[in-house]
Amino acid sequence: MKSAPFTYYDPTSVPELVDLLANAEDAKILAGGQSLMPMMNMRFLMPDDVIDINGVHELNFIERENGHLKFGAMTRQKEVLGSNTVANAAPIFGEALRYVGHIQTRTRGTIGGSLCHLDPSAELPAIASLYGAEMKIANADGERTVSMDDWALAYMTPNISPEDVLVDITFPLWGQNHGYAFEEFARRHGDFAITAVGTLLELDQNQIITKVAIVVAGADVTPTRLYDVEKDLIGQIANEGTFADAANHASEIEAMTDAYVTATYRQRLAKTLTNRALISATERAKEKQND
Ligand SMILES: Cc1cc2nc3c(=O)[nH]c(=O)nc-3n(C[C@H](O)[C@H](O)[C@H](O)COP(=O)(O)OP(=O)(O)OC[C@H]3O[C@@H](n4cnc5c(N)ncnc54)[C@H](O)[C@@H]3O)c2cc1C
Repeated sequence: MKSAPFTYYDPTSVPELVDLLANAEDAKILAGGQSLMPMMNMRFLMPDDVIDINGVHELNFIERENGHLKFGAMTRQKEVLGSNTVANAAPIFGEALRYVGHIQTRTRGTIGGSLCHLDPSAELPAIASLYGAEMKIANADGERTVSMDDWALAYMTPNISPEDVLVDITFPLWGQNHGYAFEEFARRHGDFAITAVGTLLELDQNQIITKVAIVVAGADVTPTRLYDVEKDLIGQIANEGTFADAANHASEIEAMTDAYVTATYRQRLAKTLTNRALISATERAKEKQND
């Protein structure tokens, strides 16, 4: 099938882009097109205007500054995966991005597109939740910042209006010795996750957990941070018993049943993957301490 007819625009700057958005009746932004184009071709979406932001080069950058990692919304997933800056500062991106589609989709797909599409199983929104990332939004009236906790409003519904553009995403970095792990279960390589779990963790010299974050993707309609489980883990010794308790609590997560698997199955996955991710993140944190 082919898309319904639309008018095509290709701005080259953010001011030009927000002006177009402000004056459009029913526009859609085109980033990597890996989700938008299939939806248009299947006529789930029939926008009057398509505003292609591939020529807005100021939206494509990776910066590390003052303990933060910042990505322009148009940074390709492949560029994030190939960046030494990202690999040194936040290696979990590399682990998670290998699960995102295929090399062909990552070559076009962008970090901003993934956050705006907001598939419940998508890896990049999960990482944004794990870090408590902040999204900078622009429109013709100015700019505002939205934290990841306020970003995912409902199923595939980001906190953004039709006249807004996501400009960049900022991730506060963890200590150099942090451990990390991203564990995922999908039916085939490249498929969206049935459930995935990401973890960041810091230990002191006595192997006591001083900081931890856990996110579950694919279980519920938005990525879910396990704040209560995290709170209980702080001050505990990082060992198998501690992680088994945490994993049991992870299995209490709200989960959905769909055509493929039941909520109970997703809850079991949340338990198993949380346990694995915590063990793996701890091993990596210990290795860093011994470097
Ligand atoms: C075969 C296949 C397998 C895939 N597997 C996975 C997977 O395993 N995991 C995964 O996470 N994804 C997967 N994807 C989706 C892929 O990661 C997409 O790249 C991503 O969902 C959307 O990014 P995009 O840049 O292509 O955005 P587009 O498709 O261009 O846009 C997506 C939506 O976001 C809006 N948008 C885009 N950029 C902005 C912006 N800056 N400001 C405001 N709105 C914006 C668009 O208007 C549109 O509504 C897969 C895709 C395919 C085709």
